[in-house]
Amino acid sequence: MSNAIIYTRVSTKEQAEGGYSLSNQDKECKKFAIDNKFSILKVYEERGESAKTTARTELQHLMRYCTQNKKEIDALIIWKFDRLARNMKDFYFLNNYFNSLNIKVLSATEVNGESATEKLTRNMLGAFAQFENDQKSERVTAGMKQAFLTGHWLWRAPIGYITKNGNIEPDPKTAHHVKKIFKLFSTGMYEQTQLIKIIEADGIKINTNRMCRLLRNPLYMGYMHKNKWSEEPIRGIFEPLISEAEFKKVQDILNGKKPVITAYKRNNPEFPLRQFITCPNCNQPLTGSKSKGRKERYAYYHCHHKDCCINFRIRKEKLEKIFVDYLKFIKPERDLLNLFEATVKDVYNEKLSVRLNSQKQVQDKLIELKNRKSKLIDFRLDGTISEEDYKFKTKQLAEEIQEQEFRLREADAVSDDLTKCLKYACRAICNIDTIWENGDLDLKQRLQKLIFPKGLMYYSNDFRTAEISSLFIKKDASLASYNNMVPPSEFESLPPP
Ligand SMILES: [Zn+2]
Repeated sequence: MSNAIIYTRVSTKEQAEGGYSLSNQDKECKKFAIDNKFSILKVYEERGESAKTTARTELQHLMRYCTQNKKEIDALIIWKFDRLARNMKDFYFLNNYFNSLNIKVLSATEVNGESATEKLTRNMLGAFAQFENDQKSERVTAGMKQAFLTGHWLWRAPIGYITKNGNIEPDPKTAHHVKKIFKLFSTGMYEQTQLIKIIEADGIKINTNRMCRLLRNPLYMGYMHKNKWSEEPIRGIFEPLISEAEFKKVQDILNGKKPVITAYKRNNPEFPLRQFITCPNCNQPLTGSKSKGRKERYAYYHCHHKDCCINFRIRKEKLEKIFVDYLKFIKPERDLLNLFEATVKDVYNEKLSVRLNSQKQVQDKLIELKNRKSKLIDFRLDGTISEEDYKFKTKQLAEEIQEQEFRLREADAVSDDLTKCLKYACRAICNIDTIWENGDLDLKQRLQKLIFPKGLMYYSNDFRTAEISSLFIKKDASLASYNNMVPPSEFESLPPP
């Protein structure tokens, strides 16, 4: 009597559609074995894997078993040849492999044998299996093209999105981070490296390369890149994270059409207006330095341009005072206030959801601890644990409960008032002079550049030809209205933003 092993396989799809069931294959293979007087040594069942590669778990086990026990095995029985492989290359490889071990591959339902006709039939079967497989992948490609053209993103979802129902949709965990990146970058006040740091503080790690690709990815405004299926970008039927206008703005900044406002890193914090205010004579940017007085060193802004004849210089305190007074007549445009308001609301809601989440965690933990406590009492009552263990554990639990209750009270105590918050924020931004005075060098220089993109030319206790950013407008210069804008007393205690 000869020995045989049986291999059956069903793919996920076949499994779902039925018909190719493992038990049916098994039954027919066993019947074939009995009819041909084989005794069965082992049965290998492959579930849910395709025939595409030879990297199938059960097949690998089977091959290893055959190598180790080749002397005892005479045949491998399969239900149909396509169970072994769906393309000619794999089929020949596997068939040769088993033949080299002196194991015959036999199909329970198809032609076996070594005559020319039988071999041809077998090869034809293999060729048909391959044809079917090729056709299937053609159908898949056609289906993908159709899906792409109708606005489905079929590939991996980029950060900010998740894959769902054959398309993508905003990822509740990361979408707001992507929105934040675009919003900040579109202000033109941040470099990519700064964005990376900001977003890292939110717990999202993005390297330089990825940040650049993210800012360039039109998917975020709802468009899919053109590819071999379409010569035009395709409008996706998924929700965009940002508007087309915002995306365009960001591209302008990336393409260098709009400057990124950054501080001069080498600058001395003592001279925030250096390189910003220009000389009344030659209009070259002033520099700052200290010169020796009799007792102390005085700080000056001065013109150091060698062709400038007037040797202009002005005391630091004086120029900065004039500048701050000038700022008092600047107020933000309504749009900027709206942006500010939206940002504050965003931050508030984000913080709120984090807090509610952590509160929920603490509450869950408390419930769990209390359950454990009551279980512990049960254990003591029925004598499962000793008095000593009980006391030790009870004390430990009591401490943990106390800690969680403390955290709960603490979380409750933080009560934000959004309206108050907003009022604060808007008042702050309406008093740009105070922000400038209290800011550090970086903030000072950002503000200067933001309000006066081209700098300011000093001219006899005032400034000349000030091109003011469209984000700001000049206030009514009448003194009466100016006095109304004086910050209320509580503003004094505000920390710098
Ligand atoms: Zn000069």
